Amino acid sequence: MTNSDHIQNERVAVPEKGYVYIIGAGPGDPELLTIKAERVLHEADVILYDDLVPGELVDQFTALKIYTGKRKDCHHFEQDAINEEIVRHALQGKTVARLKGGDPFVFGRGGEEIEVLRKHGIGYEIIPGITAAHGASAYSEIPLTMRKVSSSVAFCTGHPVSKIQVPDADTLVYYMVASTVHDVLDAVVKKGRGEETKVAIVQNATRYNQKIFAGTLGELRQREKSVYSPALLIIGDNINQFIENNWFSRKKKVLITGGDAKMYNCRDYIMVHFPCRRIDGAEREMLGQCIREIERYSVLLFSDRFSVTYFFRHLSEYGRDVRHLAKSRICSAGKAVSSELRKYGVIPDLCLDAESFGSIMDRLREEGIENESILLPGSNLVEDDLVRELKALNNMVTPLCVYMHGAREHEESIDLDFIDEIYFSSLSCVRNFSSLYKAIPAGITVTTADRSTEAEYRKLFKE
Ligand code: SAH
Repeated sequence: MTNSDHIQNERVAVPEKGYVYIIGAGPGDPELLTIKAERVLHEADVILYDDLVPGELVDQFTALKIYTGKRKDCHHFEQDAINEEIVRHALQGKTVARLKGGDPFVFGRGGEEIEVLRKHGIGYEIIPGITAAHGASAYSEIPLTMRKVSSSVAFCTGHPVSKIQVPDADTLVYYMVASTVHDVLDAVVKKGRGEETKVAIVQNATRYNQKIFAGTLGELRQREKSVYSPALLIIGDNINQFIENNWFSRKKKVLITGGDAKMYNCRDYIMVHFPCRRIDGAEREMLGQCIREIERYSVLLFSDRFSVTYFFRHLSEYGRDVRHLAKSRICSAGKAVSSELRKYGVIPDLCLDAESFGSIMDRLREEGIENESILLPGSNLVEDDLVRELKALNNMVTPLCVYMHGAREHEESIDLDFIDEIYFSSLSCVRNFSSLYKAIPAGITVTTADRSTEAEYRKLFKE
């Protein structure tokens, strides 16, 4: 049976109409996603995501991802085309996640999208998200209401200029002010708010590169007309003295180039994930051959979490499942890999501690992984050192590309000015990083996971 036969068979089994989730992704910090949204995104077949949705958030999921943003230089979708795209996938019977920045119903056009779904009789639900105002408020220590100071708050738009309103509320939050900050400030003064009223512009709220401009109405009106995007303008006397040196700005920002950044967040650090994208792109011919002969391999060694996810996805595409792996020893390179394996019903025979490359080799030797036929599912960037060492123990090693690393197409690269430390977790991470950055600014501390990663870092950045 060919691969396309399988896909054909799967098509027959899907229900007639799909289902759409309109989801708020939160303001930027990927951890501000709701638990419900996370579950649904894992179940989705397709994710259509907007500009303000952080790429690192989307990368965690294996669904087909379609960027519908409007970043310059990119092909982009107009709202009608987005609606059509949602409907098209839903009518193919898919579970569609429509992922939008912040909350879908706060300046998010979520209302228009559900109208279209209703018209087509497509089932949907809406999962709220943390809107930018709430994110900015928490991450810059501006309480939106405060006893005796502010007892009402209004969310307003700063765009277009003709739509600027100044409601009678103690705290005013303006969205979409990138190029209209001064128009908003003028309108607020005209409405009678004093020049001494406090103002804050919060740019990239909740992201590692959050930046705050604070002052009074009078002072900010004197500033040059910079463009701030994405940014919120907050006006009100609840803006306090903690704003610039707040809990979030005090944390160290560490760029992590592999693994799951979230897992390392802690009280002292914010982990910033380096945009290294995993994308579909297995070597089809090789994949077919390996999976058909899967029982030939005495050891399957999974060195990262994504190799597990993609391997099992391909296995099932070829009409096979975990029973076909019964004869092989399954090894994982660390806890994250083991927990991914468990999702597919596999308890690894051996969990190697991935702390360092050297220790993996010692463990393999101890466990007698010698004279074996080893399948090494992974990415297009083969871990040459691992292959060489495995071969040195007289093993036959077959690296199999089950996914690709790719540079991001739409994401802006990381602004190293905001980074205090970089952690390279593997050799391929150093290589990916060097494809985007030729040098590392002097003020940044660099740490690496093991000897071979350190050597690659020295080779690419120090020589
Ligand atoms: N639905 C979104 C708003 C979309 S409108 C929400 O609920 O947040 C886009 C505007 O949201 C931007 O122009 C900006 O004003 C604001 N915004 C979104 N994310 C932001 C962020 N991380 N920091 C500051 N402003 C943000």
